[in-house]
Amino acid sequence: MADKNMAVGKESEKMKGKQKAGGTYEKLKPYLEQAMALQTALMLFEWDNETLAPKKAGPYTAKVQGALSVLYQDLMAGEPVKSLLSQCQEEEGLTEAERAIVREAVEEKERLECIPPDEYRAFQELVSKSTRIWAKAREGQDFEAFAPTLEKIIFYQKKFAGYRAKKGQKLYDVMLDHYEKGFSMEKLDEFFGLLKKELVPLLHRIQDSGVEVETGFLKGGYPPEKQRELAEYLAEYVGFDFEKGVLSESAHPFTTNLHNHDVRMTTHYKERMDSSLFSVIHESGHAIYEMGVADELTQTLVGQGASMGMHESQSRFFENIVGRDEAFWEPIYPKLQELFPEKLRDVSRKDFVRAVNQVQPGLIRTEADELTYSLHVLIRYELEKQLIEDGLDVEKLPGLWADKYEEYLGIRPQNPAEGVLQDIHWAQGSFGYFPSYALGSAFAAQMAAFMKKSMDFGELLRKGEVKVIRETLRGHIHRFGKLRDSRRLLKDMTGEDFNPQYYVEYLKGKYGELYGIGG
Ligand code: ZN
Repeated sequence: MADKNMAVGKESEKMKGKQKAGGTYEKLKPYLEQAMALQTALMLFEWDNETLAPKKAGPYTAKVQGALSVLYQDLMAGEPVKSLLSQCQEEEGLTEAERAIVREAVEEKERLECIPPDEYRAFQELVSKSTRIWAKAREGQDFEAFAPTLEKIIFYQKKFAGYRAKKGQKLYDVMLDHYEKGFSMEKLDEFFGLLKKELVPLLHRIQDSGVEVETGFLKGGYPPEKQRELAEYLAEYVGFDFEKGVLSESAHPFTTNLHNHDVRMTTHYKERMDSSLFSVIHESGHAIYEMGVADELTQTLVGQGASMGMHESQSRFFENIVGRDEAFWEPIYPKLQELFPEKLRDVSRKDFVRAVNQVQPGLIRTEADELTYSLHVLIRYELEKQLIEDGLDVEKLPGLWADKYEEYLGIRPQNPAEGVLQDIHWAQGSFGYFPSYALGSAFAAQMAAFMKKSMDFGELLRKGEVKVIRETLRGHIHRFGKLRDSRRLLKDMTGEDFNPQYYVEYLKGKYGELYGIGG
């Protein structure tokens, strides 16, 4: 334990104290710094595209992004870096951080060098245009307008995965590995199989329970400027540092980071106030993770969250395990009532918490309740598998999508905007990303089970001491950045390998109690 908690601190001393004169790693460093600078610029463009950039800038900015991407690729897969990296792999006496940085750089180099530069550039340009095409298609509820672009994206994704695949490795496994190491289709089939087996019947029992939850007061009459005030208050309350981060608005809330002192998140203000309220706590969880990365790791290849799944575990931990607990609201519910007196004066805290934990199958993933959320992810996982592994025709997506919603959630989208066009991920070429959302929820539940054994979680929330919880997460997870992978971090923290039973038990326990349906 002591060793683990010291690790990053020790690295820092080593990194500062020991000048490896003439060391190969020291020669590699300036190249990696340049690469990070290019990445940072690309991130900033991406952020800008989603928030402030004018509509017509699109194709022009895409050119800049394309050119920067080529520079990045040339640098990381080019000669000096290539030979320095292979020498570094042999070099002795590197710190854990340096070894991890070399490991990440080698992986990145291998990922990049296998793609012909012209294809890489074409794909970058395609992707920077595709999100606009997708957004327009979604606005017009017109899947046909997006289908040809999606087809091209899938074509490139499969092609690139093919370049990267190890002998006998399936293409979708290559994509999954990019987001979450050690979670191939074999493992995910098992995970999603468990969720399907346990959560679909639980949902039915809840629906049959006849329990009605009043939620009408959550909708309408919450002015955006007041919602913004609440969003800023809540972000700060859970630990978002406004001196190291900004909160903006975008259609699809997200968080991005340039380094641990510049973390940017967005939210949206909707008619249903709980939508923006929980989206801001969720994004704060992502942001707190990035802000918590150790200073000596930031602006290196390991200076960010360990994986997509680990990232989601932190956002969901804050959103659901912290934010939807009645104890969390005990100290701050009066503040909420004060902000929206006409709406909430006569609503008790208990009724408010019940309302924000209502289970109601819906069509939109990002609006889903905590229980049905993973079923939305399950549907995307099954469809991605078919698209990548079985050559599913893109044209068939809307119909299949609707059928699966009907099967698992009992509802059917009436148009592609509330169906297959709702998520940005495929437009960005992010195939294999979705499963990390469900994995994150399961990681979070395992961490919570562990923490609840060693601290009075509810009491801390009641006393407004979110900080203690946040610091515990920081100590076990955040500060390590990408030094170690998610399975290792989870095991180091909880003393156990990934175990999705914790997630199932957590949901059964929580909703059994809320809906009075018992085990
Ligand atoms: Zn998230």
